[in-house]
Amino acid sequence: MSIIHLLPEHIANQIAAGEVIQRPASVVKELMENAIDAHAKSVQLNVKDAGKTLIQVVDDGDGMSPEDAVKCFQRHATSKLKSAEDLFRLKTKGFRGEALASVASIAHVSMRTKKNDAETGTHIEVEGNSIKTNEQIVCSKGTVFEVKNLFYNVPARRNFLKSESIEFGHIRDEFERVALAHPDIKFSLHHNGQEIYQLQAGVLRMRVASIFGRNSNERLVPIEEQTNIVSIKGFLGKPDAAKKTRGEQFFFVNDRFFKDSYFHHAITKAFDGMISEKHYPSYCIYLDVDPAKIDVNIHPTKTEIKFEEDRFIYSILLSSVRQALGKYNIFPTLDFETETSFDVPSSFRKTEPIEPQITVDPSFNPFHTQKNTAGSSGNGFSKALKNEGFGQTMPSSSDWEQFYQIEEESSSSDGLISTQTIGFQDDTFQGNYLIHDRYIFSPTKSGLLVVDIKRAKWRILYTELIGKFIHQALESQQLLFPMEKEVSKMEMDLWLSHEKLLKQLGFHCEYDQETIFIHGVPTVLPENSVNDCIDSLLADLQDRDIDQGDVAHHLVRRLTQNASREAVIRQAEEAQALIEALFQCEEHTLAPNGKKIMHTVLLTDIASNF
Ligand code: ADP
Ligand code: MG
Repeated sequence: MSIIHLLPEHIANQIAAGEVIQRPASVVKELMENAIDAHAKSVQLNVKDAGKTLIQVVDDGDGMSPEDAVKCFQRHATSKLKSAEDLFRLKTKGFRGEALASVASIAHVSMRTKKNDAETGTHIEVEGNSIKTNEQIVCSKGTVFEVKNLFYNVPARRNFLKSESIEFGHIRDEFERVALAHPDIKFSLHHNGQEIYQLQAGVLRMRVASIFGRNSNERLVPIEEQTNIVSIKGFLGKPDAAKKTRGEQFFFVNDRFFKDSYFHHAITKAFDGMISEKHYPSYCIYLDVDPAKIDVNIHPTKTEIKFEEDRFIYSILLSSVRQALGKYNIFPTLDFETETSFDVPSSFRKTEPIEPQITVDPSFNPFHTQKNTAGSSGNGFSKALKNEGFGQTMPSSSDWEQFYQIEEESSSSDGLISTQTIGFQDDTFQGNYLIHDRYIFSPTKSGLLVVDIKRAKWRILYTELIGKFIHQALESQQLLFPMEKEVSKMEMDLWLSHEKLLKQLGFHCEYDQETIFIHGVPTVLPENSVNDCIDSLLADLQDRDIDQGDVAHHLVRRLTQNASREAVIRQAEEAQALIEALFQCEEHTLAPNGKKIMHTVLLTDIASNF
């Protein structure tokens, strides 16, 4: 009996495609999640050489029929999703139906699987997406996956893998996340035959303590809160146990690990003043939310999740962490009683929650001077704010246009808010975007999204090119007249010793003693940036801090940085396309240099200024 069916193309497209397998740890995550989805009670993970040689996952779950054992390797083959609506009711970890197909295309995969009621099991071996072995065998219930020689057919990708300890660190992270989400399942982890974890099924506290490490049990403070929108449970590390390294910080929603800097902020705010600077609180927090109110699909590897009620959850988190710390006499109770406006009064709990309200007089225009305060209810700012926070429709561009016009007028008349208005004079209003030469401003439900155009462009180009670069040379554009670049002897040596990589990047050159003649440059690089780009590449090549194994990454980083310097956006469509492309990148919050690409000015922050 088969339970697997193919997803129609349009749904497959709705599920944003992404590179599923970046490193051995990605395989570990996918295989372990499949075992959980198959209702396993015990999951064993064995890896060799940080997963480069072997990743084996043994489960005692449902197993597969002989027919499904073949089907599961096809792209978009899943038993977990039938229609797009199911996306909003998801209880399983997987649903894209692309993990096994992806793994099978870049590794040698062997699988043994048997359903509980079947007499025999099926043994499948796949290489390069074609089935090499398909036979009936005797085996026990459940599934054993073996992934060998990862990236055997993508040597560049294999070469990009980091040291064994780093790659194993990633594997361990994934293992811990899955194990923390499922205390009722038994897990083990072995690396090169050595036991790293042996976790018995049990209560949550036991699981958290065994992952947080020795003596951590007495450092744990429980946290618990129930509301109609979210249930929270979990453990906090006592403030005096805060660590210098950001390690033990886990959020789960509906048993799925996720990362969220906004919620993280709520926790650190609750710990404010209790831990010294440069220390991080430990926490392991589980949220339970109606699956229809979250979107797990915005991130290809599903570690970022969009919450419909994020502001409410933020305030509940803040107050319940404070309460938990207060209860254990860690946080002075007095302080706890002086609740901030963000906190939710206890009478609120278990009743229908109301979103934190911001009291704004919609007719009040902060940018109007006295002379035009009266009767100014039709102005852009209030309309924009009203539409955003309290109305149904998005503010129109003219709303924002008016908002800034008023701002300019009033600044010139009384100079009171002049600093805020500088630089906006030349901005253009396009649909729902305000386009400034460096930033795009776009109203969102929770406030005003500000996107740094150059950094966004840098991230997009980098993500695109690094993916290409490891498989093939980047496109190069022939110059009509070769550029000549005078360099020192040392620079020439540096350039020549990396010539192959630089050529792969798109620089085609000839050489004289101290001159580089550049005939071809990377297509992405504007001609007037070539000189600067070469200078910065040479500087990078001299930088002793750059690990030789990492040079290629740095070169692509530098090239794309130079290529994005001149980025300009003029039209709404361009702004839209840029933002969409940015969100397609797995990492879309930080530029390749680790700096923030976007920032949301929250309505609550705006309101607190008035
Ligand atoms: P997804 O998990 O998104 O459905 P995968 O490519 O990871 O996609 O797996 C494809 C299908 O193979 C799953 O939907 C499931 O039916 C089956 N499968 C994969 N791993 C297991 C397993 N360990 N036990 C039972 N069935 C599995
Ligand atoms: Mg899966």
